[in-house]
Amino acid sequence: MDHILGLKCSLCGREYGLNEIEYVCPKHGDLGNVDVVYDLRRVARQVSKRKLADDRDYSIWRYRALLPIEPDSPALPLQIGWTPLYRSKQLGDSLEMPNLYIKDDGRNPTASFKDRASAIAVVKVRELGREIITTASSGNAGAALAGMAASVGQPAVIFVPQTAPEAKVAQLLMFGASVLLVKGTYDDAFDLCLEASREFGWYCRNTGYNPFTLEGKKTAALEICEQLKWKAPDRIFVSVGDGNIISGLHKGLKDLYELGWIDKLPRLMGVQAAGAAACYNAWRHHTEKITPVEAETIADSISVGLPRDGVRAVRAASQTGGAYLTVTDDEILDAMRGLARQAAVFAEPAGATAYAGLVKALQRNLVERDETVVVLITGNGLKDVKSAIKAAGQAQRVDPDLESLKRLWKKMASVIHET
Ligand SMILES: *Cc1c(COP(=O)(O)O)cnc(C)c1O
Ligand SMILES: [Zn+2]
Repeated sequence: MDHILGLKCSLCGREYGLNEIEYVCPKHGDLGNVDVVYDLRRVARQVSKRKLADDRDYSIWRYRALLPIEPDSPALPLQIGWTPLYRSKQLGDSLEMPNLYIKDDGRNPTASFKDRASAIAVVKVRELGREIITTASSGNAGAALAGMAASVGQPAVIFVPQTAPEAKVAQLLMFGASVLLVKGTYDDAFDLCLEASREFGWYCRNTGYNPFTLEGKKTAALEICEQLKWKAPDRIFVSVGDGNIISGLHKGLKDLYELGWIDKLPRLMGVQAAGAAACYNAWRHHTEKITPVEAETIADSISVGLPRDGVRAVRAASQTGGAYLTVTDDEILDAMRGLARQAAVFAEPAGATAYAGLVKALQRNLVERDETVVVLITGNGLKDVKSAIKAAGQAQRVDPDLESLKRLWKKMASVIHET
């Protein structure tokens, strides 16, 4: 892979050859996340804005020259990425933000952003010729890995906390993965998966620990910039659990900036649930020391006590002039309703968290109304129906006769006129 110079530790800066280490920098235990360093001059010979303009492959594979895969590795036979970037007029009008965009990553094959990362991991496991791929997940990363693996018949073993929403567990089983419900938290599942991968020699996709998840995730930043005709937005709002998505966006933007394809880095706005705010805490105290918390939030996908990519996640905000915010579970439920009713985007709680963060940032005057803002919606609402019902309420029951309907409709119609 001569478009890649090597791997660089995000903590100590030590550089490694691509085949020298498999996952993290050995000097820091499991948290020495490494960056993939590209030879961008070589990349620039392979791909250009103009070449992309003529490329009809509307998926993450259009950015192959900027991905850590062999030039001739087959892509997965699924439509991954190139999710819609909506300019939402109703939502923009209601917030007095004329330049508001919603990127709906719930439109990926397994209905979450995680397909971007799992797709790369599955291409890697095929390149390496390893028999089994594994991951720990709060649900979506596993569902994504199970789905991506099913598309090429790759065996996968998935560890999720036993509390994962039913629909996500159903996805795992439906795609034929070997599923282990861990009697513990996501953090427990993460550690067990690491131990298992060492013991059995399985290829481990664990978020942040595997250097290539971030590379898959960066494709969202590449898409946002290309969809905006290479005019980088002023800000991107994204929810944060392990911190690998926000770090991936940062990496993608840095790659584009160094290529000279965009002329500024958008401010990255990380949004965490108030009950799982380890990155927010570190950012607010101007430190890179991540102190674990007891995670407790309705937004299961970001219910993370010890973020596995915390340092890079804090830097993503601090190095771009962005910020971190926290939102309560009630604010997340409000945001789910607001997004669905005004933009017709149905998000799971962690997906709507980014939008809840924008609402809060406006209340606090952290954002100018005329800025170009992208809100990244990371997962579809059908992934977690219990939470959706909590946000949406119950439907009215009616007896099967017109008189009953008339009486009821009188009440319902008055509600429509009020709102
Ligand atoms: C995984 C996930 C996130 C958070 O991503 P991290 O890399 O863990 O910060 C947000 N939303 C959804 C729907 C997710 O599945
Ligand atoms: Zn190191």
